[in-house]
Amino acid sequence: MKHGFLHSNIEERDGRLFFAGADTVGLAEKYGTPLMLLDEDRIRARCRMYRRAAEKYFGEGSKPLYASKALSFRGIYRIMAEEGMSADIVSPGELYTAASAGFPMENAYFHGNNKSDADVEYAVKNGIGYFVVDSVEELSAVDRIAGEAGIRQRILLRITPGIDPHTHEKINTGRVDSKFGFAIETGAAERITGEALSKKNVELCGFHCHIGSQIFDAAPFMLAAELMIRFIADIKEKTGYEAEILNLGGGFGVRYVEDDPKADIEAMIEASANTVKRACRECGVRMPRILLEPGRSIVADAGMTLYTVGTVKEIPGFRNYVSVDGGMTDNPRYTLYGARYTMAVANRADAEADFECTVCGRCCESGDLLGERIMLPRPERGDLLAVFVTGAYNYSMASNYNRVCRPPVVMIRDGKDTLAVRRESFSDMTACDI
Ligand SMILES: *Cc1c(COP(=O)(O)O)cnc(C)c1O
Repeated sequence: MKHGFLHSNIEERDGRLFFAGADTVGLAEKYGTPLMLLDEDRIRARCRMYRRAAEKYFGEGSKPLYASKALSFRGIYRIMAEEGMSADIVSPGELYTAASAGFPMENAYFHGNNKSDADVEYAVKNGIGYFVVDSVEELSAVDRIAGEAGIRQRILLRITPGIDPHTHEKINTGRVDSKFGFAIETGAAERITGEALSKKNVELCGFHCHIGSQIFDAAPFMLAAELMIRFIADIKEKTGYEAEILNLGGGFGVRYVEDDPKADIEAMIEASANTVKRACRECGVRMPRILLEPGRSIVADAGMTLYTVGTVKEIPGFRNYVSVDGGMTDNPRYTLYGARYTMAVANRADAEADFECTVCGRCCESGDLLGERIMLPRPERGDLLAVFVTGAYNYSMASNYNRVCRPPVVMIRDGKDTLAVRRESFSDMTACDI
């Protein structure tokens, strides 16, 4: 059976795998492996789709933020700035990277469940647009530090609506039991809202929720939207405060393997918008500006990783191991949560995939796998292995375990490649060692 190529930016030409219109074999020769490729045209197209859909369905002032934990380096923040995207950042390191790329800080939203006083000071000093406040302690710290800086800091509050996106049900304990957010049903959300409204140096602009990831269906977003509008109405009735902004979070699904569904993101946005409009009418609140916060669905299928095959071990009666020159250091997602991937031998992309194997990395760690029960043409030492859909939560989760150097990132635009992040060197890894 021939490999299905899953996404329209992956194709075979004369036996070679092409990605974003570029020859992967040629790119591997030019830059070496492991190599992370990014389809810049696709990233920009996704940004435009989200911007258009947010305005079209939710109305003027509604917009997408790029959840930059999915893939963070300077070049991506430049693209986001050019595409008019706002950004979600979760650490001072992401903030620094964005700011140093010239990303406008007024369009940045600072997330995270445990921001230190130093983090808060750093973000205030850099003129961050909004804090998404996620604890009582943080609210006090933001109020105090904004006061010292002589500003009134805009904030959203992170609320837990209590939904499990994978059962579509409102769950009384499951989602309330989270390190993130203030739960509506315990009364914590209402209490923190009252407290935020009483702070002198804080301007409460609205609420945020994020129900999960890899969601392929509109129903959980609709349920979250409904619960959040009802919460906004309840707060209005009790305090007179009417939220101006509602951030509905990210989590739009991406296809990694053939049997994943295809998410119709625009249809999900339209359905959520219809719910928000109806709920606002029914509850007698004005339509808030809606923010969406996609990460994975902007960059995941715009990424591909290339590796060189090394050792191939066939263990009769057990399994076949195919080793590559990267692994959990550049892609820890299989090791972390059994994430599934589609793979191909890039220099023999038309060969029959009749060899079942476990693809493993080079680390001294038996859990260092990229996938099990993978069907490939029997790989040989020196073959080029492509792993598809690696744009999200790969490079951003990469480590230097075993002092393995992180791969370079190459952007492809109009079929032309440019280096966006150079390959790490041994001296980069000892740079902090005294
Ligand atoms: C991770 C995260 C996102 C992005 O989720 P995706 O599944 O990558 O779209 C958005 N908002 C918050 C608060 C997150 O933690």
